[in-house]
Amino acid sequence: MIPPFPAQLSLAHTPTPLRPLDRISEALGGPRIWLKCDDQTGSAVSGNKIRKLEFLMADALQRGCDTVVTCGGLQSNHCRATAVIAAQLGLACHLVLRGPKGLIEQPTSYSVDDAIPSGSGYEGNLLLDALCGAEISVYSPRYFTHNLRTIFESVEKRYGESGRHCYSIPTGGSNGLGLWGYIAAAQEMLADFSAHGIEPGGVVCASGSGGTQGGLTLGFHLLASNVSVTGVAVCDSAEYFHRKIIDDVDQWQGLFMSSSPNLSESLSIQTIEEYIGPGYSVGYPELFECIRWAAKTEGVVLDPVYTGKAFYGLIEEIKKGRFVGVSDIVFVHTGGIYGLFPYSAELMV
Ligand SMILES: *Cc1c(COP(=O)(O)O)cnc(C)c1O
Repeated sequence: MIPPFPAQLSLAHTPTPLRPLDRISEALGGPRIWLKCDDQTGSAVSGNKIRKLEFLMADALQRGCDTVVTCGGLQSNHCRATAVIAAQLGLACHLVLRGPKGLIEQPTSYSVDDAIPSGSGYEGNLLLDALCGAEISVYSPRYFTHNLRTIFESVEKRYGESGRHCYSIPTGGSNGLGLWGYIAAAQEMLADFSAHGIEPGGVVCASGSGGTQGGLTLGFHLLASNVSVTGVAVCDSAEYFHRKIIDDVDQWQGLFMSSSPNLSESLSIQTIEEYIGPGYSVGYPELFECIRWAAKTEGVVLDPVYTGKAFYGLIEEIKKGRFVGVSDIVFVHTGGIYGLFPYSAELMV
């Protein structure tokens, strides 16, 4: 049983389609792979983050905030979706971005112009951030990692001093409230499954900040479905995601279902950590090959940071026999198309 939903804005185009990838499934001789097309939740706002922002932005408005602050990598899909939605709602937006490696360590922020790698410019997500009027400050990777809380506090203080009210959203929109996005998606997917007459054995998604995997895991559990959810990590370890999801679910339960017995300990949290490669947002040859193959075989456009690694992981795990006996499996296409373009040189060799 799902408790009553909190305030929600209608921002995403849902329900998104669920479609079978017959040629890829046939080539593998494994389960039928279905694509849950959350890359189609919108155009400039496309991807998974908008589902979480439906709840986070509703909360911001209810609290009377006029400025949203969030953070992520230079090509963050979450930051881009937040910047676009803020502009749609008439809110100001400040993005705290983790700059590229090689940025000199210093405690102050860089302007975007100083931080973007030489030879490139405002590309992909960053272009949309700037176009939608987000204020952007960039920090060296190490400073960002070690001082994120301090950075948020100083941004909030600065806006506060000019009479503005900030609403801060954590990395990827993943917290207790943000989980609602994929709890609602789990409900939507159960309706998809019955419309298509399937009972998938598994749902697979990319995991970056854990909110998609966590929301789906919690959502299916609350709905008494036994479909298993597997996150393919694109950074961090399986242990990290285990902890992160438990923390978010505990926070969620404290807010929305506090009188029930503890939920997080009864969840089955499954994460695969073998497909990260050299690191977050760094690709490898098999990954680029898989992205080209999915695009030309099915017209499925994946990105090297998230969906490509998760899909490559799914394919490899099917080949290794992880899903033996499963007739249908669902891959959640979480978006990321704007993050593809900065990789043109590596994709088109
Ligand atoms: C953020 C993101 C993910 C990961 O989702 P989390 O909820 O942060 O784990 C997956 N795919 C894309 C395209 C993303 O932008």
